[in-house]
Amino acid sequence: MRINLRQPIEVNQAIKLVINSCKLTATETVDLDYAYGKILAEPIIAKHDVPPFNRSAYDGFAIRAEDSFHASTEKPVEFRVIGEIGAGHLGERPIGKNEAYRIMTGAIIPENANAVVMLEETTETKAGFLITKSYQVDDNISFKGEDAEIGEQLIAAGNVIHPGTIALLATFGYAKVKVAKSPFVSIISTGTELLDVSDDLKPGKIRNSNGPMLMGQLERMGIPFQSFGMMEDDLDACTNIVEEALEKSDIVMTTGGVSVGDFDYLPEIYRRLGAEVLFNKVSMRPGSVTTVAVLGDKLLFGLSGNPSACFTGFELFARPAILTMMGSKQPYLPRIKAMLGEDFTKANPFTRFVRAIWTMGPKKPIVVPAGFNKSNAVSSIARGNGIIVLPKGSEGYVAGDEVDVLLLGQEQGVEYWELE
Ligand code: AMP
Ligand code: MG
Repeated sequence: MRINLRQPIEVNQAIKLVINSCKLTATETVDLDYAYGKILAEPIIAKHDVPPFNRSAYDGFAIRAEDSFHASTEKPVEFRVIGEIGAGHLGERPIGKNEAYRIMTGAIIPENANAVVMLEETTETKAGFLITKSYQVDDNISFKGEDAEIGEQLIAAGNVIHPGTIALLATFGYAKVKVAKSPFVSIISTGTELLDVSDDLKPGKIRNSNGPMLMGQLERMGIPFQSFGMMEDDLDACTNIVEEALEKSDIVMTTGGVSVGDFDYLPEIYRRLGAEVLFNKVSMRPGSVTTVAVLGDKLLFGLSGNPSACFTGFELFARPAILTMMGSKQPYLPRIKAMLGEDFTKANPFTRFVRAIWTMGPKKPIVVPAGFNKSNAVSSIARGNGIIVLPKGSEGYVAGDEVDVLLLGQEQGVEYWELE
C-alpha cells in the first residue's frame, strides 16, 4: 500500500508559491471595443488637457462677469443676446459690454466672456434677459485641464480595464490599446461518477457541476478556455488528456482526483509529466487537497472535486495567478470587514472559508453563512456573494463579531492581503 503523508502549508504561503511561479504573458494590441476586462500593458497618459478648452458647465448665457457686478433684485441688469453657441459650435465674435451668448452645456466659452449665468437664474426680455445678482469671474465654467493635464499619467499599466477606464481611453483617442494576452485555460473534470448536465441521474452518479462552474468563473474574468469535458478515473486516459490540454493551453485546471483515494490519479499524472508540485495540501477548509504544479511556463491547478472546495480553490489561487500572469498588480479579491449576523460556533483548526451573503447593515456590512457549508456543498455557492475568512485556531464566533469577507464578482481587485 502506498501511504502518502502530505505536509500542509499555510494559505498565505500557498498563494505566494503560486504567484511566484507565474510567468507574464505576452502583450497584444486590441481595438478599444474589445478591451473590457483586459489588463492594461501601457499606462494611460493624458494626450491633451481635459477638458481641452474652457467650456460652459450649464445651459445659460456667457457674459462678462464685470457687467453683472451691480445687479440686484432692486436693480436688475439687462443683457442683449447676440447669438447662440451649441455644444460643438463656436461663437462668431467676441462679446462686448452687456452682451451675452446663449450657451449650452459643454460649449466653448466665447471670446471676452468669463462667466456663465444659469438659464434658471434669468428672466427673459425682448432683447435678451435680466439678472438680479452679480457673478464672479469663472462662475459656472469648466476649465481647460481641470480634469487632467497633458502629459499626466492617469492610470498605470497593470490595471484592469473597466467601463471607467474605457471612457478615459476613448477620451484620448486610444482606438487601439496595448493589453496583456489572456492565458488560455483548459478544464478537465475527472471522476467516473460524473454525468453530463443533459444526462438523467443514475444510481451512484452525479452531474458534473464543477466543469460548468469553472467555465463561469473564467467567463466572468473574460479568460478564454476550452473544456475537455469529463474523464473517467483511468490513469492512462487522464494522463493523455492532461498532456493534450497542456499542449493547447497555458493553464490546465482539473477537478477531482487530488485526494489520497485509490482512484485519485492526479498526483501520479504530475509525476509522469515531470511537473513540479508546489504544494498538495493546504491548511484550509474546504479545499485542503488543492494542488498546484508547474511545468515549464505552465501551471496545473488540481482543484478538489468537492464543489465548494473547487470554487474556493479557484478564487483563492487560480484567479490571482491568472491576473498576475497578465501583469495585474491588484489580482486579489477585495476584502472588507463585516459583522457576523449569526453565530458560527465551530472551532477552526484550519483557516476556514465560508460561502456567505453580505449586505450593507445600518452602520456596517453584515455577513451570514449562505447555508449548508460543507466542502461538498453546492447550494451555498449559488447563494453566496462573498466568502467569510475565519482564521485558524479560533474557537468559533458569535453574532456581532467582526470577520473578514472576500468579495466575489468585483471587476477591480486589490493588492495582497495577508490572511490572519
Ligand atoms: P474527488 O476530489 O475526486 O475525491 O471528489 C470529491 C467529491 O466531489 C466526490 O463526492 C465527487 O463525487 C465530487 N465531485 C467530483 N468531481 C465533481 C464534479 N465535477 N462536479 C460535482 N461533484 C464532483
Ligand atoms: Mg474523484
